[in-house]
Amino acid sequence: MEYKIGVIRGDGIGPEIVNEAVKVLDAVSGKYGFTLKYTDIDMGGCSIDKYGVPLTDEAIDAAKASDAVLMGSIGGDAKTSSWYKLEPSKRPEAGLLAIRKELNLFANLRPSMLYDELKGACPLSEVTADKGFDMIIVRELTGGLYFGERYTKNSHGIETAVDTLSYDEVEIRRAAIKAFDIAMKRNRKVTLVDKANVLDSSRLWRKVTAKVAESYPDVDYDTMLVDNAAMQLVKDPAQFDVILTENMFGDILSDEAAMITGSIGMLPSASLNDTKFGLYEPSGGSAPDIAGKNVANPIATILSASMMLRYSLDQDEASDAIDAAVKQVLKDGYRTGDIMSDGCTKVNTDEMGNLIAGKL
Ligand code: NAD
Repeated sequence: MEYKIGVIRGDGIGPEIVNEAVKVLDAVSGKYGFTLKYTDIDMGGCSIDKYGVPLTDEAIDAAKASDAVLMGSIGGDAKTSSWYKLEPSKRPEAGLLAIRKELNLFANLRPSMLYDELKGACPLSEVTADKGFDMIIVRELTGGLYFGERYTKNSHGIETAVDTLSYDEVEIRRAAIKAFDIAMKRNRKVTLVDKANVLDSSRLWRKVTAKVAESYPDVDYDTMLVDNAAMQLVKDPAQFDVILTENMFGDILSDEAAMITGSIGMLPSASLNDTKFGLYEPSGGSAPDIAGKNVANPIATILSASMMLRYSLDQDEASDAIDAAVKQVLKDGYRTGDIMSDGCTKVNTDEMGNLIAGKL
């Protein structure tokens, strides 16, 4: 089996962390009998330097021709980089927004899990941390309040600002199907988070999602109000497997879920469309402060590559093997500077990649 992988190395630490993920992918693909054919795609600041725009039509075509895209990060230091003297639509981040739109990436996946070895960094109580947690938030990414009609008006000297939150059943159904498909690859539990006691849009989410749930009899389905979910995430995060939610609630809850791991730099993410295609990237940014120093933590990118194998290529065993290799290297006491603690061995970016690839 051969898969076409678009590779956006991007800016800052992007090239360093992507190189380590590719190293790990090469090790695992050899072992599990599939081949990955890589195509480099320019996006962000490096594309501005070469072509004057953060994303070219050729780059979009190359991404569309791929089975999945693995990305490092884009962007630079907003205070010093010349990229930020350009108008907003020409800056590095505009490339990311454009590629999400062009590829119709409507579902954003943000896993949040607590590694036994990093429990000390978890800001929750010891009892809660000891129970551990491993969840994934599926956030609808292209609808809702952030994309609704908005305006500000002034009537008789009183200023009023209006934002609209709307969803149609098609947008909800496709996000719900993603969440249930993902649950089938995990612990088979979906919690829809909404505000159905107040919002019409949330009531439609409940109606449509309940219907989707009927097609997944093996998945345990429940609903929870968003204010309660915000509390439950810090009180008992172990209860969650897949959280499905709309755009704004997902924006807020996914950061809360990331924060309770205590090691946000370890977290991967994915954005999917209604085919198997996905864009996979670390949750963090391009870290210009440490770029080129070989000290960045490549684990979030390596775990993004693992998600790519699971959700776009259906290579679940290879994905499990990467996740296990990461855990083992952490258990062996190896750490990059950002997650360093007493008694551990500090390693560089490439050493961490070598250690993980070496376990495969
Ligand atoms: P950042 O995540 O790049 O950095 C925040 C802090 O975390 C820094 O101290 C950095 O050194 C550290 N850090 C981040 N990733 C790390 C890693 N893998 N290993 C070790 N330390 C790491 O956030 P920022 O400084 O706010 O943003 C920098 C640039 O990244 C900006 O241009 C921003 O727009 C861009 N950005 C891009 C993406 C993306 O490509 N999807 C996401 C967020 C931010």
